[in-house]
Amino acid sequence: MKKDILSLCLSELKEEELFMSLPSFRASQVFEHLHKRFVSGTDEMNNIPKALREEIDKNYLFGSVRLERKEVSKKDGTVKYLFSLYDGELVETVLLRSNRGLSVCLSTEVGCKMGCRFCASGKLGFTRRLTAGEMLSQVYFCAKDSGERIGSCMLMGIGEPLDNYDEVLKFIKLISSENGMNLSQRHISVSTCGLVPEILSLAEEKLQITLSLSLHAPFDDMRSEMMPINDRFNVKTVISACDEYLKKTGRRISVEYTVIKNKNDSESCAEELKKLLGGKLYHINLITLNEIKEKPYEKAGPEAVYAFQKKLLKRGLNATVRRRLGDDISAACGQLRRDSEGKERSEDV
Ligand code: SAH
Repeated sequence: MKKDILSLCLSELKEEELFMSLPSFRASQVFEHLHKRFVSGTDEMNNIPKALREEIDKNYLFGSVRLERKEVSKKDGTVKYLFSLYDGELVETVLLRSNRGLSVCLSTEVGCKMGCRFCASGKLGFTRRLTAGEMLSQVYFCAKDSGERIGSCMLMGIGEPLDNYDEVLKFIKLISSENGMNLSQRHISVSTCGLVPEILSLAEEKLQITLSLSLHAPFDDMRSEMMPINDRFNVKTVISACDEYLKKTGRRISVEYTVIKNKNDSESCAEELKKLLGGKLYHINLITLNEIKEKPYEKAGPEAVYAFQKKLLKRGLNATVRRRLGDDISAACGQLRRDSEGKERSEDV
């Protein structure tokens, strides 16, 4: 397979055989086209000689995504894109407005192998990991399409980012690089269902990103029933890996907790969360369960979420309720899929 040119950092590009014999400004020019002007092909590289453009096309693949469909929420303006990749695979990306301006929620894999029962993303299984370039391209497309600067990125779309560790790390380095989009690492969140070895490796990388742990239940039996990964890394193991991450990086960890009425919203759950997280630099993000067509759990209204928040606040825990965006176009947490279903549920624009 050809190399994805979008996945190479500037120093790697300069060391490619094709660029080695050229003055180094050529690699810089090409890098700028890709990462500052967000071009998706050599035809848009107007100051690059034709012969070099042809060589680039011959030797490299462009990880650029292609738009298949765009839907806009009538409720809150959230945009959901369905993109195809060079091999015809499909992923979804969401563009939403947050207090940091525009935010992109991007996919890291085609499908997902983690099998969380309440999440739509893994229902059709897993095909492959995305390259760093394919992740970047989702963000670049959003920047071009909106005509605005992207203020933050969340690796919370389809897939498990830490199952695609090397490419995710490359993505973080490239998107925060001064020669590229120069997005502050503080505005990048990586969400994981709890892959312990990778959490520990990430702690060593000296990054400024925010780590989010999808916890959803404080007891092993309850969490295993919701998230099969808990049979490999249980609650205590994953929290102690996160404690280690906190110690090494000093960065606050965000804990994602989808509230399911009469299941994980009891006093005893709140008490156990206090034991696990109390007195440490954790912030609990409460999420309303978003409906997926498989309906494994009953949808609870916002009252259940606010009632559980009260239980946590009473115990001195730091907990907020996440705004629910884009659920009318199935763009909310856990509703993204790797296929083109759902079209009939909303109007294309
Ligand atoms: N694989 C990663 C990131 C993708 S999911 C992870 O597990 O963290 C992004 C967040 O949405 C996770 O916290 C996930 O557990 C949550 N989520 C999944 N399905 C959901 C649903 N139906 N309703 C609400 N949140 C959901």
